[in-house]
Amino acid sequence: MASTVTLEKTTTIQSDDAGVVGSPKTTMRSPLLTKKKGATGGAKGRCCGHRCELVSYDKLPEFLKHNEFIVDHYRSEWPIKEALLSAFSIHNETINVWTHLIGFFVFLALTVCAATMVPTEYESPHMATSFKGLANITGNAMVLRSYSADDGAVLAMTMKAFRNVSVETEAAAVLSAGAAGHGRVPRWPFYAYLSGAMFCLLMSSACHLLACHSEHASYVFLRLDYAGITGLIVTSFYPLVYYTFLCHPFYQALYLGFITVSGAAAVAVSLLPVFERPELRWARAGLFACMGMSGLVPIVHKMLVFGDRPEAVLTTGYEMAMGAFYLAGVVVYATRVPERWMPGRFDLAGHSHQLFHVLVIAGAYAHYLAGLVYLGWRDMEGC
Ligand SMILES: [Zn+2]
Repeated sequence: MASTVTLEKTTTIQSDDAGVVGSPKTTMRSPLLTKKKGATGGAKGRCCGHRCELVSYDKLPEFLKHNEFIVDHYRSEWPIKEALLSAFSIHNETINVWTHLIGFFVFLALTVCAATMVPTEYESPHMATSFKGLANITGNAMVLRSYSADDGAVLAMTMKAFRNVSVETEAAAVLSAGAAGHGRVPRWPFYAYLSGAMFCLLMSSACHLLACHSEHASYVFLRLDYAGITGLIVTSFYPLVYYTFLCHPFYQALYLGFITVSGAAAVAVSLLPVFERPELRWARAGLFACMGMSGLVPIVHKMLVFGDRPEAVLTTGYEMAMGAFYLAGVVVYATRVPERWMPGRFDLAGHSHQLFHVLVIAGAYAHYLAGLVYLGWRDMEGC
């Protein structure tokens, strides 16, 4: 009976088994799903037999109503198998799923790259030449220095684009640092950040794919999504605070403790069912924005203490870029532009949440570049 009602309200965007392309106001069937003759369609939602249908906003149960400006192409209470397979069909979450799934694989590649090409904290300084491979792959900017050959003291420091300047200078600098007697700094804050970014992107992708299954699935995946966002914000502080205040253990502990406790509190608050109500969109955006904005404190502190250091200036530049991307993302997320201007026009492509996803990836990548600069800085200089 449910599917009968749906037939009158859904929109065709794909041909059915017979290859007949329907006109608007008829039923849409996912191409993969229609071939699964043995698939078990749930009695609930918009699935009948092996077919699942997309529905319009006004047919959604309350727990799936998040954005009235996206009018159509919703999956509603689909069986878990069909929801998983819907990653390969077209609906209003397809691009949301893939933007962050691709982002996850990009960060996985960056992590593998860093793990294999950035020398570990236990490797001898001559391995520093492997930075070259990383530069070739990522094209990252790095800080280059010149050191005296006799005692390892810094003679001059210059900042240049890594891709344009010989990377051997970097290697020579780290060699000098090794000769001067200080080893490499711990890597865990850098990898904690990469793990936080991957967790956030993967949870977001899973949430967009599977939250349509049921009210319980929606509750669980939305909490994982919020936990992922919190994890990304918290771990973003780790390289910034740990490497900047390497020689100031009090401030290191203070800032790391503050953001970790704030993150735990944010996860606890997000467990409240009221947290996902559509009218609290601004409260959610505000909570995550406040956590992110608190990063201004250690950044200003860094500039007050190390303002004459090119590494501090460069990393602050990346952090400002990250902040600008995230801020733009929060504004787009909360205002729901552009779909509020033309409801229904951006259902499949171009709506605010897709733009928000792309801005998050851009911001996270800017912070990854800052992390590489921090590693180079502290490897060469120590404490
Ligand atoms: Zn999302």
